[in-house]
Amino acid sequence: MKNIRNFCIIAHIDHGKSTLADRLLEWTGTVDKRQMQDQVLDDMDLERERGITIKSHAIQMKYTYEGETYTLNLIDTPGHVDFSYEVSRSIAACEGALLVVDASQGVEAQTISNLYLAIGNDLTIIPVLNKIDLPGAMPEEVSDQIVELIGCKREDIIRASAKEGIGIDEILKAVVMRIPPPQGDPNGKLQALIFDSVFNSFRGIEVIFRVKNGTIRKGDKVKFVATGKEYIADEVGILKLQKEPREQIECGDVGYLISGIKQAREVKVGDTITHVQNPAEAIKGFEDVKPMVFAGIYPVETSEFEDLREAMEKLQLNDASLVWEPETSAALGFGFRCGFLGMLHLEIVQERLEREFDMTVITTVPSVQFKVYTTKGEEKLIQAPSDMPEPVHIEYIEEPFVKVQIITKAEYVGPIITLCMEKRGVIKNQVYLTTDRVELSFEMPLAEIVFDFFDKLKTISRGYASLDYELAGWRESDMVKLDIMLNGDTVDALSAIVHRKKAYEWGKRLCEKLKDLLPRQQFEIAIQAAIGQKVIARETVKALRKNVLAKCYGGDITRKRKLLEKQKKGKKRMRQIGTVEVPQEAFMAVLKLE
Ligand code: GDP
Ligand code: MG
Repeated sequence: MKNIRNFCIIAHIDHGKSTLADRLLEWTGTVDKRQMQDQVLDDMDLERERGITIKSHAIQMKYTYEGETYTLNLIDTPGHVDFSYEVSRSIAACEGALLVVDASQGVEAQTISNLYLAIGNDLTIIPVLNKIDLPGAMPEEVSDQIVELIGCKREDIIRASAKEGIGIDEILKAVVMRIPPPQGDPNGKLQALIFDSVFNSFRGIEVIFRVKNGTIRKGDKVKFVATGKEYIADEVGILKLQKEPREQIECGDVGYLISGIKQAREVKVGDTITHVQNPAEAIKGFEDVKPMVFAGIYPVETSEFEDLREAMEKLQLNDASLVWEPETSAALGFGFRCGFLGMLHLEIVQERLEREFDMTVITTVPSVQFKVYTTKGEEKLIQAPSDMPEPVHIEYIEEPFVKVQIITKAEYVGPIITLCMEKRGVIKNQVYLTTDRVELSFEMPLAEIVFDFFDKLKTISRGYASLDYELAGWRESDMVKLDIMLNGDTVDALSAIVHRKKAYEWGKRLCEKLKDLLPRQQFEIAIQAAIGQKVIARETVKALRKNVLAKCYGGDITRKRKLLEKQKKGKKRMRQIGTVEVPQEAFMAVLKLE
């Protein structure tokens, strides 16, 4: 146990975590030249394409220093603001963290938020100044920022280039020397923290854990404390690039367990594994995930509802931050109301459902949660606009607010403040970190920030702004439900909850936008926006002149059917609502009105 080190790499996105992980794996000979590729741990196709880490990854390395061989368990984590939950789970399994800061960019918003997470979990921090090879690197200035931020000594900061392989051995030495070995009682009752799970279609669910006390052996009878379910540990092992079975995983170490678990809901990330005989209590895990954005997910083909449920269950195994429950929509039928960490998360879930599970799905208008206080004195948590009570029954509504931290260059302060005020934000603080770098603090409605705020911020600051936010509580707000009617029928899946001040403008623009998005059909489509009974805007989609079927007039029916079939295939993510066909983009239109 004294030769084990568990650590993670934390950083702002793109500061070089995954590349540094590559070098560490190479240096320690964990991955050989033949297997090596850039960002080797990002094994999901989606991660490779987008060049981002979505999931945390655990891998074990061996490193020899002064004649002693050490077991180093590395956990790579994502950096995007949407995925901080993955970071918090990894942190709970570690004693130390490499804090990577890009020498050409300096300290950014997620550098700070991830650092705070690590410090809150008592991790030893090793600051690493990365990308010193870049001509634009500012090692002195960024070192000052790091010293200021964590209160370390200047000489504690390791200068490195993950790309060029500079400073790698020094980092590994620091991991061994500075990070304490795990504590725990090897002879105590078994307590292992589940911090991740992976779905394997052949062998069932692989549970990734960190042993806090005791030892887990192959063949042990184990129990998951929260679910109370019992299993035989068919296989335990360590994680290299591939899984390597072992007879046992000792106290302090990280490993995986396979015991033929098929049901996703049996594995709860944050749960504790213990022995059936002589069981221990649950480890205090980490906070439950807090979804920020809610949206419905529906199969395009109504008959695929059960397939979608199965896909969601499997996906959830790989993505503990996805939450969902069944929901029905008058317009779309059976589907699921899902909670996401943010819009990137939503996009990724939708894309993974399509790629990994071959599902074609529609996601409905995303929304944050609202609290509605009714005239009867009830308090209702609303996750879908369709759950909103009638206006006459509403006493008042509260919406979630967030504390927002933005770090930017001095020249962008003006435009950023303007943007935040447009988004109903209130500036709370403005601190010059250096003569050119400013930290702005705002309070703002979550609803204004989760959708396209980040993109806007990036645009107006030419990329020189980083963002972080955390929930700050509920505030009363004058929100109304904006309904959309197509040919007189309200389409619940298109409703949105918006601020009253913005409602008229939104209704008008939304109708215009929908007019562009809805494909023309054989008949006219009336698009109306309404608040309660009151119609506030209207547009019309003209009827299609030329009948697509006209071509086949006189032709045989099979040809006609084939043509329709062909059209159906081409039309992905399109749902028939009443008589009107609504494409996926229509549900996202409300987010793109400005
Ligand atoms: P992550 O988001 O923190 O995992 O960052 P990545 O490891 O994916 O790196 C982001 C980008 O920075 C990639 O294009 C890397 O090639 C590049 N990068 C990483 N480390 C270095 C470095 O030390 N020097 C230079 N010049 N580029 C680097
Ligand atoms: Mg990465």
